[in-house]
Amino acid sequence: MTKIAVAKGDGIGPEIMDAVLHIFTAAKVPLEYEVVEMGKWVFDKGYSNGMTPEAKQTIETLGILFKGPMETPKGKGVKSVNVTARKTWNTYANNRVFQTLHGVDTVFSKAGIPIDITVVRENIEDTYGGVEHMLTHDVALSRRLITRPGSEQVIRYAFEMAKKKRARRITCGHKANIMKITDGLFLEVFYEVAKEYPALKADDVIVDDLCMKLVTRPDTFDVVVLTNLQGDIVSDLCAGLVGGLGFAPSANIGDHICIFEAVHGTAPDIAGKNIANPTALLLSGIAMLRHLGLMESAAIIENALLYTLEQGVHTGDFGNKAIPALNTTQFADAIISNF
Ligand code: ATP
Ligand code: MG
Repeated sequence: MTKIAVAKGDGIGPEIMDAVLHIFTAAKVPLEYEVVEMGKWVFDKGYSNGMTPEAKQTIETLGILFKGPMETPKGKGVKSVNVTARKTWNTYANNRVFQTLHGVDTVFSKAGIPIDITVVRENIEDTYGGVEHMLTHDVALSRRLITRPGSEQVIRYAFEMAKKKRARRITCGHKANIMKITDGLFLEVFYEVAKEYPALKADDVIVDDLCMKLVTRPDTFDVVVLTNLQGDIVSDLCAGLVGGLGFAPSANIGDHICIFEAVHGTAPDIAGKNIANPTALLLSGIAMLRHLGLMESAAIIENALLYTLEQGVHTGDFGNKAIPALNTTQFADAIISNF
């Protein structure tokens, strides 16, 4: 049986991870789980990168990490565990899928406008190197790194993924009109790679205009590829289009290691109350099952989830207020009862 590494994370992480693994077990998913020590609490134990050497070793051996949200310890010079993980294992593409879910009301679902957008965000470069310093007491400077190979690997991933899912359109979001050299390079690589995929309609939209178009005509977009920071912002915008952070799954794709996690954070305001919505992590888990070729398990769980949402079953963060909200455990059980 395939074994994967699981890191439950901080805040609501353990609650939503337990709910998802409970659903996986009930669905008889043929996977074994090795729980690894990673997160803010591991950082607090004295491991400066937020993971134990054993955890790192296990993840590198198994190749797949299913991960709960992790808190970044406060303070200067401290790196986010999430960013460290992406960098350590060169998971260069962040794939985030935003789809209309029946039962999750949004202005678009009410208007009958279906949404199915995949955002591919570059995951390593850009301003995320955190190379910034004070030039003088009053002047702060940040450096932005965009490379041709770094751009090419994520753009190529986006085109391959778009081809596999038979996308109609692939769009590059950028600000090359202002950042002519950095975003200009990303855009140039996009059109170079596009030449190898003549069947895909490739175009580009300046990122501010893209935001406006996404909130007015989200149904016209299919796959959107962006640099790191712009991709981060645009993907939260897209999460809002389909009902919020509770419904936004993500996969960090590298050549050797892939990390599956929810887009949202640790939600400290509701942690420990067993009321968090596990859907985003469950959707990430379903994407992980498909990545591992476990199509049947993925379909069973996905159908049960969609049916449960359609019935109006919901946690406190969404849904019809006239129907009482379920807690995290009850919500997971409702999905299981619909297998
Ligand atoms: P972090 O620094 O870890 O990102 P945060 O304070 O930014 O933490 P987020 O996790 O990003 O918090 O969440 C933003 C808001 O969305 C919070 O009010 C949180 O309660 C809510 N939220 C996030 N995830 C969920 C979830 N799975 N279920 C319900 N509410 C959620
Ligand atoms: Mg946050």
